[in-house]
Amino acid sequence: MSVREVAALLRETGPALVLTGAGLSTESGIPDYRGPDGNRRVTPMSHQEFTATSEARQRYWARSFIGWQRFSAAEPNDGHLAVTDLQRAGALGAVITQNVDGLHQDAGTREVIELHGSLAEVVCLTCEGRVDRGLLQALMDDANPGFASRALGSVVDGSRVSSQIRPDGDIVLADEAVTTFVTPRCLACDADTLKPDVVFFGGAVPKPRVEQCYALTEAASALVVLGSSLKVMSGYRFVRRAAARGIPVVVITRGPTRGDAETTHRIDAPLGVTLAALTRAVGAQVA
Ligand SMILES: [Zn+2]
Repeated sequence: MSVREVAALLRETGPALVLTGAGLSTESGIPDYRGPDGNRRVTPMSHQEFTATSEARQRYWARSFIGWQRFSAAEPNDGHLAVTDLQRAGALGAVITQNVDGLHQDAGTREVIELHGSLAEVVCLTCEGRVDRGLLQALMDDANPGFASRALGSVVDGSRVSSQIRPDGDIVLADEAVTTFVTPRCLACDADTLKPDVVFFGGAVPKPRVEQCYALTEAASALVVLGSSLKVMSGYRFVRRAAARGIPVVVITRGPTRGDAETTHRIDAPLGVTLAALTRAVGAQVA
Protein backbone atom coordinates (compact mmCIF):
# COMPACT_ATOMS: atom_id res chain seq x y z
CA MET A 1 0.00 0.00 0.00
CA SER A 2 1.46 3.36 -1.01
CA VAL A 3 1.15 6.80 0.55
CA ARG A 4 -0.46 7.97 -2.67
CA GLU A 5 -3.19 5.34 -2.38
CA VAL A 6 -3.92 6.28 1.24
CA ALA A 7 -4.10 9.95 0.23
CA ALA A 8 -6.61 9.05 -2.50
CA LEU A 9 -8.66 7.05 0.00
CA LEU A 10 -8.78 9.91 2.52
CA ARG A 11 -9.82 12.30 -0.19
CA GLU A 12 -12.72 9.99 -0.95
CA THR A 13 -13.80 9.34 2.64
CA GLY A 14 -13.35 12.83 4.06
CA PRO A 15 -12.02 13.46 7.59
CA ALA A 16 -11.01 10.10 9.07
CA LEU A 17 -11.06 9.27 12.76
CA VAL A 18 -7.52 8.83 14.08
CA LEU A 19 -6.19 6.48 16.77
CA THR A 20 -2.59 7.09 17.86
CA GLY A 21 -0.17 5.14 20.04
CA ALA A 22 3.32 5.26 21.50
CA GLY A 23 4.97 4.75 18.10
CA LEU A 24 4.02 8.29 17.13
CA SER A 25 6.00 9.77 20.04
CA THR A 26 9.19 7.71 19.77
CA GLU A 27 10.66 10.27 17.36
CA SER A 28 10.17 12.85 20.14
CA GLY A 29 12.47 10.81 22.37
CA ILE A 30 9.74 9.02 24.33
CA PRO A 31 10.41 5.32 23.85
CA ASP A 32 7.72 2.72 23.35
CA TYR A 33 7.08 0.08 26.01
CA ARG A 34 7.47 -2.44 23.25
CA GLY A 35 10.41 -3.22 21.03
CA PRO A 36 10.20 -3.41 17.21
CA ASP A 37 8.99 -7.00 17.58
CA GLY A 38 5.90 -5.79 19.45
CA ASN A 39 6.88 -7.53 22.67
CA ARG A 40 6.92 -5.63 25.94
CA ARG A 41 10.39 -4.54 27.03
CA VAL A 42 9.49 -3.27 30.48
CA THR A 43 6.60 -3.91 32.83
CA PRO A 44 4.85 -0.68 33.83
CA MET A 45 3.54 -0.19 37.36
CA SER A 46 -0.01 -1.50 37.52
CA HIS A 47 -3.05 0.30 38.89
CA GLN A 48 -3.47 -2.36 41.57
CA GLU A 49 0.15 -2.01 42.66
CA PHE A 50 -0.05 1.79 42.78
CA THR A 51 -3.20 1.94 44.87
CA ALA A 52 -2.20 -0.90 47.24
CA THR A 53 0.67 0.60 49.25
CA SER A 54 2.44 3.84 50.20
CA GLU A 55 5.72 2.14 49.22
CA ALA A 56 4.53 1.62 45.65
CA ARG A 57 3.48 5.27 45.40
CA GLN A 58 6.85 6.39 46.82
CA ARG A 59 8.58 4.30 44.17
CA TYR A 60 6.37 5.71 41.43
CA TRP A 61 6.87 9.34 42.42
CA ALA A 62 10.62 8.97 42.93
CA ARG A 63 10.93 7.59 39.41
CA SER A 64 8.47 10.06 37.96
CA PHE A 65 10.27 12.99 39.61
CA ILE A 66 13.39 12.09 37.61
CA GLY A 67 11.56 11.04 34.45
CA TRP A 68 9.44 14.21 34.25
CA GLN A 69 12.42 16.44 33.53
CA ARG A 70 12.98 14.68 30.23
CA PHE A 71 9.34 13.90 29.54
CA SER A 72 8.16 17.49 29.97
CA ALA A 73 10.91 18.75 27.65
CA ALA A 74 9.79 16.50 24.75
CA GLU A 75 8.52 18.32 21.67
CA PRO A 76 6.15 17.32 18.85
CA ASN A 77 7.88 15.61 15.91
CA ASP A 78 7.16 15.62 12.17
CA GLY A 79 4.43 13.01 12.69
CA HIS A 80 2.48 15.15 15.18
CA LEU A 81 2.86 18.22 12.96
CA ALA A 82 1.66 16.25 9.91
CA VAL A 83 -1.47 15.16 11.81
CA THR A 84 -2.25 18.84 12.42
CA ASP A 85 -1.69 19.65 8.74
CA LEU A 86 -3.82 16.69 7.60
CA GLN A 87 -6.58 17.80 9.96
CA ARG A 88 -6.49 21.32 8.49
CA ALA A 89 -6.56 19.82 4.98
CA GLY A 90 -9.74 17.91 5.87
CA ALA A 91 -8.17 14.46 5.55
CA LEU A 92 -8.23 13.70 9.29
CA GLY A 93 -10.82 14.48 11.96
CA ALA A 94 -10.87 13.81 15.69
CA VAL A 95 -7.87 12.13 17.28
CA ILE A 96 -8.14 9.44 19.95
CA THR A 97 -4.69 9.07 21.50
CA GLN A 98 -3.37 6.38 23.82
CA ASN A 99 -0.44 8.68 24.60
CA VAL A 100 -0.31 10.73 27.81
CA ASP A 101 2.37 13.19 26.65
CA GLY A 102 0.20 16.05 25.34
CA LEU A 103 2.28 16.28 22.15
CA HIS A 104 -0.75 16.33 19.82
CA GLN A 105 -2.05 19.44 21.56
CA ASP A 106 1.43 20.98 21.56
CA ALA A 107 1.48 20.43 17.78
CA GLY A 108 -1.79 22.34 17.40
CA THR A 109 -4.02 19.34 16.71
CA ARG A 110 -7.66 19.89 17.67
CA GLU A 111 -10.37 17.51 18.91
CA VAL A 112 -7.91 15.32 20.82
CA ILE A 113 -9.34 12.72 23.18
CA GLU A 114 -6.75 11.46 25.65
CA LEU A 115 -7.97 7.89 26.08
CA HIS A 116 -5.51 7.15 28.88
CA GLY A 117 -5.51 10.65 30.40
CA SER A 118 -2.68 13.14 30.73
CA LEU A 119 0.50 13.10 32.79
CA ALA A 120 0.27 16.88 33.13
CA GLU A 121 -2.55 16.50 35.65
CA VAL A 122 -2.57 14.88 39.07
CA VAL A 123 -5.59 13.79 41.07
CA CYS A 124 -5.95 12.79 44.74
CA LEU A 125 -7.52 9.34 45.12
CA THR A 126 -8.80 10.30 48.59
CA CYS A 127 -10.50 13.69 48.07
CA GLU A 128 -10.45 13.98 44.24
CA GLY A 129 -8.58 17.29 44.54
CA ARG A 130 -6.41 18.15 41.55
CA VAL A 131 -2.98 19.65 41.20
CA ASP A 132 -0.91 20.69 38.22
CA ARG A 133 2.04 18.36 37.56
CA GLY A 134 4.44 21.27 37.09
CA LEU A 135 3.59 22.68 40.53
CA LEU A 136 3.92 19.23 42.07
CA GLN A 137 7.35 18.88 40.49
CA ALA A 138 8.47 22.11 42.20
CA LEU A 139 7.10 20.91 45.55
CA MET A 140 8.87 17.55 45.19
CA ASP A 141 12.07 19.39 44.29
CA ASP A 142 11.85 21.44 47.53
CA ALA A 143 11.13 18.33 49.62
CA ASN A 144 13.93 16.25 48.06
CA PRO A 145 17.11 18.37 47.82
CA GLY A 146 19.91 16.54 46.04
CA PHE A 147 17.73 13.55 45.13
CA ALA A 148 18.22 13.87 41.39
CA SER A 149 22.01 13.75 41.59
CA ARG A 150 21.94 10.84 44.07
CA ALA A 151 19.51 8.95 41.85
CA LEU A 152 21.65 9.59 38.79
CA GLY A 153 24.38 7.44 40.28
CA SER A 154 22.03 4.59 41.06
CA VAL A 155 20.39 3.59 37.82
CA VAL A 156 20.22 -0.18 37.82
CA ASP A 157 22.11 -0.92 34.62
CA GLY A 158 24.55 1.99 35.03
CA SER A 159 23.24 3.76 31.93
CA ARG A 160 22.21 7.40 31.86
CA VAL A 161 18.87 8.07 33.52
CA SER A 162 17.49 9.64 30.36
CA SER A 163 17.76 6.35 28.48
CA GLN A 164 15.52 4.65 31.02
CA ILE A 165 12.44 6.84 30.69
CA ARG A 166 9.18 5.09 29.90
CA PRO A 167 6.17 6.36 27.96
CA ASP A 168 4.32 7.14 31.20
CA GLY A 169 7.19 9.24 32.53
CA ASP A 170 8.22 6.45 34.86
CA ILE A 171 11.85 5.45 35.06
CA VAL A 172 13.96 2.63 36.46
CA LEU A 173 15.70 3.52 39.74
CA ALA A 174 17.41 1.37 42.36
CA ASP A 175 15.36 0.66 45.48
CA GLU A 176 17.94 2.18 47.84
CA ALA A 177 17.55 5.52 46.06
CA VAL A 178 13.76 5.27 46.10
CA THR A 179 13.40 4.68 49.85
CA THR A 180 14.90 8.11 50.66
CA PHE A 181 12.33 9.93 48.51
CA VAL A 182 9.74 12.10 50.27
CA THR A 183 6.41 11.25 48.60
CA PRO A 184 4.27 14.27 47.67
CA ARG A 185 1.05 14.73 49.64
CA CYS A 186 -2.30 16.19 48.63
CA LEU A 187 -2.44 19.96 49.19
CA ALA A 188 -6.10 19.69 50.25
CA CYS A 189 -6.29 16.59 52.50
CA ASP A 190 -2.62 15.68 53.11
CA ALA A 191 -3.05 12.05 51.98
CA ASP A 192 -0.16 10.37 50.13
CA THR A 193 -2.61 9.21 47.46
CA LEU A 194 -1.77 11.58 44.63
CA LYS A 195 -1.90 9.84 41.26
CA PRO A 196 -1.16 11.17 37.80
CA ASP A 197 -4.50 11.40 36.00
CA VAL A 198 -3.64 8.59 33.63
CA VAL A 199 -4.97 5.09 33.22
CA PHE A 200 -2.30 2.78 34.58
CA PHE A 201 -1.75 -0.71 33.22
CA GLY A 202 -4.63 -2.78 34.63
CA GLY A 203 -6.77 0.31 35.26
CA ALA A 204 -10.00 1.19 33.46
CA VAL A 205 -10.68 4.03 31.03
CA PRO A 206 -13.59 6.15 32.42
CA LYS A 207 -16.82 4.94 30.82
CA PRO A 208 -18.01 8.30 29.38
CA ARG A 209 -14.68 8.61 27.58
CA VAL A 210 -15.04 5.10 26.12
CA GLU A 211 -18.55 5.89 24.96
CA GLN A 212 -17.43 9.13 23.34
CA CYS A 213 -14.83 7.16 21.38
CA TYR A 214 -17.37 4.52 20.34
CA ALA A 215 -19.69 7.29 19.14
CA LEU A 216 -16.89 8.76 17.05
CA THR A 217 -16.18 5.31 15.61
CA GLU A 218 -19.85 4.84 14.75
CA ALA A 219 -19.88 8.16 12.89
CA ALA A 220 -16.50 7.76 11.17
CA SER A 221 -16.07 7.32 7.42
CA ALA A 222 -12.65 5.71 7.95
CA LEU A 223 -10.24 4.93 10.80
CA VAL A 224 -6.53 5.71 10.62
CA VAL A 225 -4.26 4.07 13.21
CA LEU A 226 -0.86 5.70 13.71
CA GLY A 227 2.02 4.19 15.70
CA SER A 228 0.17 1.49 17.58
CA SER A 229 0.66 -2.27 17.62
CA LEU A 230 -2.94 -2.51 18.95
CA LYS A 231 -1.84 -4.88 21.70
CA VAL A 232 -3.89 -2.96 24.26
CA MET A 233 -7.61 -3.69 24.15
CA SER A 234 -8.52 -0.12 25.18
CA GLY A 235 -7.60 1.03 21.66
CA TYR A 236 -8.01 -2.19 19.68
CA ARG A 237 -11.76 -2.35 20.45
CA PHE A 238 -12.36 0.73 18.28
CA VAL A 239 -10.54 -0.93 15.39
CA ARG A 240 -12.78 -3.96 15.78
CA ARG A 241 -15.86 -1.75 15.83
CA ALA A 242 -14.69 0.08 12.72
CA ALA A 243 -14.05 -3.23 10.94
CA ALA A 244 -17.49 -4.51 11.97
CA ARG A 245 -19.01 -1.42 10.35
CA GLY A 246 -17.07 -2.15 7.16
CA ILE A 247 -15.30 1.21 6.95
CA PRO A 248 -11.68 1.40 5.73
CA VAL A 249 -9.08 0.81 8.45
CA VAL A 250 -5.67 2.27 7.60
CA VAL A 251 -2.74 1.28 9.82
CA ILE A 252 0.57 3.14 9.58
CA THR A 253 3.08 1.82 12.09
CA ARG A 254 6.34 -0.07 12.32
CA GLY A 255 6.25 -3.80 12.91
CA PRO A 256 3.39 -6.27 13.33
CA THR A 257 0.02 -5.38 14.86
CA ARG A 258 -2.79 -7.35 16.42
CA GLY A 259 -5.24 -5.71 14.02
CA ASP A 260 -3.97 -7.22 10.77
CA ALA A 261 -7.27 -9.07 10.20
CA GLU A 262 -9.22 -5.79 10.52
CA THR A 263 -6.78 -3.71 8.46
CA THR A 264 -7.70 -2.76 4.90
CA HIS A 265 -4.69 -0.52 4.17
CA ARG A 266 -1.29 -1.04 5.76
CA ILE A 267 1.99 0.91 5.64
CA ASP A 268 4.92 -0.48 7.67
CA ALA A 269 7.25 2.53 7.83
CA PRO A 270 8.55 5.26 10.18
CA LEU A 271 5.81 7.72 11.10
CA GLY A 272 7.48 11.12 10.68
CA VAL A 273 8.60 10.84 7.05
CA THR A 274 5.55 8.81 6.03
CA LEU A 275 3.03 11.29 7.44
CA ALA A 276 4.94 14.22 5.97
CA ALA A 277 4.73 12.45 2.58
CA LEU A 278 1.03 11.79 3.12
CA THR A 279 0.47 15.49 3.83
CA ARG A 280 2.17 16.38 0.54
CA ALA A 281 0.19 13.73 -1.35
CA VAL A 282 -3.12 14.96 0.10
CA GLY A 283 -2.16 18.56 -0.71
CA ALA A 284 -1.26 17.62 -4.27
CA GLN A 285 -4.64 15.97 -4.76
CA VAL A 286 -6.55 18.89 -3.26
CA ALA A 287 -4.69 21.40 -5.44
ZN1 LIG B 1 -6.69 14.83 48.80
